[in-house]
Amino acid sequence: MFKSSLFVKTFTTISLGVVVMCGIFYLTTVPMIRHMGFTMQERAGSALLDNIVLLVQQSARDLQAMEDSAVAARKRELRHLVDMATATLEAAGRQMAATGMDRETVDRNLLALARSMRYGEQHDYIWIADYASRLIAHPDDKLNNADFSTVRDVRGNLIVPPMVEGARRQGDGFHFYWWRRLGDSEPIEKLSYYRTLPEKGWVIGTGVYIDDIRNDTAKLRQQLVSGLRTLIHETTFAGEGYLFIFDADKNMIIHPNPNIEGTNFANLPDPLTNKPIAEELMAAARRADKKLAYKWDKPADPGNYVYDKIAWTRYVPEFDWYVSLSVYTRDLEEGAATLTNRIVFLSLGALLLAVLGGYLFVRSFTSPIARMAESARRISGGDLSRTIDLDREDEIGELARAFNTMVLQLRSQIHTLEERVRERTAALSDKVEELRNRNRAIEAINAMGDMLKACRSHEEVYAVVISTIRKLFSGSRGQIFRLDDAGAILEPVAAWDNTGATAVEDQLYRPDDCWAIRRGKSHSVRDTDTDPLCAHATTDDDTTRAMACVPMTAQGRIVGTLHCSFATAADGNLRLLETVAEHTALSLSNIELQQTLQEQSSRDPLTGLYNRRYATEEFQREERRIARHGGHCSLLLMDIDFFKKVNDTHGHDAGDAVLKRLATILSRLFRTEDTVCRWGGEEFLVLLTRCELDYATAKAEELRATVERELRVPWAGQEIAATISIGVASYPAGEISLQQAIEVADQALYRAKEEGRNRVVLGTW
Ligand code: GH3
Ligand code: MG
Ligand code: MG
Repeated sequence: MFKSSLFVKTFTTISLGVVVMCGIFYLTTVPMIRHMGFTMQERAGSALLDNIVLLVQQSARDLQAMEDSAVAARKRELRHLVDMATATLEAAGRQMAATGMDRETVDRNLLALARSMRYGEQHDYIWIADYASRLIAHPDDKLNNADFSTVRDVRGNLIVPPMVEGARRQGDGFHFYWWRRLGDSEPIEKLSYYRTLPEKGWVIGTGVYIDDIRNDTAKLRQQLVSGLRTLIHETTFAGEGYLFIFDADKNMIIHPNPNIEGTNFANLPDPLTNKPIAEELMAAARRADKKLAYKWDKPADPGNYVYDKIAWTRYVPEFDWYVSLSVYTRDLEEGAATLTNRIVFLSLGALLLAVLGGYLFVRSFTSPIARMAESARRISGGDLSRTIDLDREDEIGELARAFNTMVLQLRSQIHTLEERVRERTAALSDKVEELRNRNRAIEAINAMGDMLKACRSHEEVYAVVISTIRKLFSGSRGQIFRLDDAGAILEPVAAWDNTGATAVEDQLYRPDDCWAIRRGKSHSVRDTDTDPLCAHATTDDDTTRAMACVPMTAQGRIVGTLHCSFATAADGNLRLLETVAEHTALSLSNIELQQTLQEQSSRDPLTGLYNRRYATEEFQREERRIARHGGHCSLLLMDIDFFKKVNDTHGHDAGDAVLKRLATILSRLFRTEDTVCRWGGEEFLVLLTRCELDYATAKAEELRATVERELRVPWAGQEIAATISIGVASYPAGEISLQQAIEVADQALYRAKEEGRNRVVLGTW
């Protein structure tokens, strides 16, 4: 599957596309999400802090309301107490006055009564001051009758005069000041109610320590703070973010860390700036963004101030508190990181899905294409047995079906082609065999030609031809016939069969016995039963398949026939045999020509006698023979007398006729072993072998007489007669050379001429 480069290409492209898109998505989205996540977390933190602050403020308001109502209740109580005390004192005053007690005594008794009045848990009391701010009735002996017109509380405010002034101006009122509880030394805030008793010129009052009012709300306040503490302890934000509350005095009021809660951290420095962290937080609370970035440690890694943190701080004026939300920057990013991770995870999932989808999609069309490619590869490698098994209703299925059709067509075409090639190959191999045979035949015929050129006799020619024919037509048999010069007799001259050359039959035929001669062209017998056969042909041989009789023609003349019975019938046989016949005829005629030429070159064309060249050779042969075997020979050299006159009188032709006639006489007169030659012009020389001078002389005389008697040539109604003069020389072995002997004969002839002609002269030396 993965060998498919199409698949790899497409799949890689899709995968790359998906990866790139995911990358782009990641690159464009993730930073934004990080930023958004961070901002959202910041906002959430801010909102959380706002809510907490709102809650604290609400609580403060609730508490304040509670305190206010408690104060109001106390105020009512104080007023009621003073009302009751006043009523009691008035009633007692009236009683005492009724008894007639003087006013001074009454007043003294009333002031004593007032000093004795106690309520609550015996700590609360009634006091009376005069208009000069002297405490004329106070349960504390030290203060009773003390002048308070100038006494100030711990804050430096006058205590009694404002109340006296208020009472005289408006009748009654409330006043806050700092006072010591009875038995206590520490001053605490106190609320007093005062009222004027104008008929006495007194100001009566009672007070309550704010502490006591607070005590009333303390429980509630405690509950509130504890609720807040629980809430704050339990509230975590963005991982390890937490809330804490401290007051303006840098007391850590609520903190999730119990070691820190309740401590004062005014001196805890920011390790980075070395300023107190509390002040930095408070400064941040005054800023618009309420934000402080700093480095802090972690509960898991205490003392290592390397972790980035952000703290938002809000001031809650109701409590004079600062509420902070402190968060590790890392945790803020965590949310975004989680979201990012989720996105990455989802992206990876989508990517995987896309890649898987891409894989399936790409495979759905590259797989069949790859299979087609594989099939095509196999087909190109010569394997046509494969088609694609693909049943799909889309274009790919169509392609596969078209492909299969193509393969089938190709298969059938290749099959046809192979068949054709096989046929052609067979035909070609036949052709090649035929060519090879033809080549062999040509070689045999060429060799035959070479051999025939060297042949000097007919017999040699027959032998070469038979050997060649046996090479060309194995198992054949046949005969060579010669037609005589007159064209009358057809004579078998050579024969062969499958064993080689055989004896020639002793029978002569007439030319009419041979169809080839009769028709003047090759006679081919394909069927020995139906085709006409030559009379010289024999059929008593069951190896004969076909016969041919081919005329041997040289220079337009039939010199014989070549008859052959073939063991195997073949188309080229006749043509080959004809070629052999041509060569044979040419060769035979050449040999005859050679013989004729040979003859002609040794003879004088006019007289038919040996010429001077041949005679000289013959003389040399004779000379060598005599030198070898001894013995001797004689020479007769003759010349026609007055021959010039014959020519002059009767013409050159007449002279020729005389020469021919003399030649006839010479031929007749001498033995065949003697050499008679025309020595030149009208001179003739006769070499008599093994002949002594006596006999030679006698023979010369006989010749001279015969010529004188017989050399008569009738010519133009006349008769031309001529005589000869003869010089005789003998040639005994070892004494002189034959050339010298001829010279001797010549000198003798010269003498014969001189002595009167028509005579014989013996030469001597
Ligand atoms: P002599 O008796 O001295 O021999 O006299 P002659 O006339 O024969 O003189 P010679 O031998 O000098 O002359 C030979 C002549 O033979 C000359 C030439 O014309 C003639 N002759 C030579 N050869 C031939 C030939 O082949 N045919 C003819 N017709 N004449 C020939
Ligand atoms: Mg002469
Ligand atoms: Mg002469």
